Amino acid sequence: MIDFDYSRATSLDEAAAQSRHPGAMLIAGGTTLIDLAKCGVAEPRTVVDITRLPDLSAVTVDEAGATIGALATMSRVAADAGIEARFPAVSEALLLAASAQLRNMATIGGNLLQRTRCSYFRDPAGYAACNKREPGSGCAALENVTRDHAILGTSDQCIALYPGDLAVALTALGATIRTTKREIAITDFFLEPGETPDRETVLEPGEVVTAVHVPASKAATNSTYLKVRDRASYEFAAASAAVGLELEADGRTIRDIRVALGGVGTTPWRAEAVEAALTGRALDEARVREAARFAVEGAKSWAGNAYKIELAPRVVARAILKVGGIQ
Ligand code: SF4
Repeated sequence: MIDFDYSRATSLDEAAAQSRHPGAMLIAGGTTLIDLAKCGVAEPRTVVDITRLPDLSAVTVDEAGATIGALATMSRVAADAGIEARFPAVSEALLLAASAQLRNMATIGGNLLQRTRCSYFRDPAGYAACNKREPGSGCAALENVTRDHAILGTSDQCIALYPGDLAVALTALGATIRTTKREIAITDFFLEPGETPDRETVLEPGEVVTAVHVPASKAATNSTYLKVRDRASYEFAAASAAVGLELEADGRTIRDIRVALGGVGTTPWRAEAVEAALTGRALDEARVREAARFAVEGAKSWAGNAYKIELAPRVVARAILKVGGIQ
């Protein structure tokens, strides 16, 4: 561990101002920052505690949708009756993430901003080459084991996976991220690595996430999050899918479908091609399985992760069939 200064922000303005200082990092639940500091990736000079900021922990659900404060804990949001009833994919994604102890500490804002689990990124003593940690240094993953790396949205600079679950559900349901400066569609919030893998979101210096808004819809109410992983708890996704579905009055024709994937992309991955292939069509198992193949359009695999190209469409199909009441 390294020495750092500690300060407690008493207002959002103060938190934003302090976070602009070189080496300053915000802390709320601490489950990400402490982890990164312990493995030598994060080296804060000042930790700015925002846990006591007022009005950032509320969860409200009304006709327009759900507004979830950035400081609400994962467990609190997962157990909210309105979220469970109207946005089940959000509740399920939270409950399938991390462990009960972590969910009790970790906040929604911190969960969204969690960093990749790329083992080379998290081992600076063992692997000097990491463009995300040290721009221009190379990418150790490209010459090593890549079982847990991305197949979508990669670049020749970085193939690290976005590891979260919540953001996948929020992507499917068309959420927006509120900050101290603006409201950002979640599909515009996360950045693919491109030439600058060290930049992971569009957040600017001093910009603080304050809340997430999820618009109400029938597809959101009939939604689910399906996660496939190596063990049944406390594990990141090998592949996951969030799906929301609304049928026409005939009970067969798809009026609205939202699909997003986790465990495969460098960002939470919206599968618009799957949605387009199914919208206006009858819900039918063979058609769903065929359309689900579009989920990995443009995928590129490395030696260890080609299995994801086969696995992800199966997970997408299962999730669609589940919300469609077929399986
Ligand atoms: Fe670093 Fe990205 Fe390569 Fe992992 S995949 S070592 S995070 S550059």
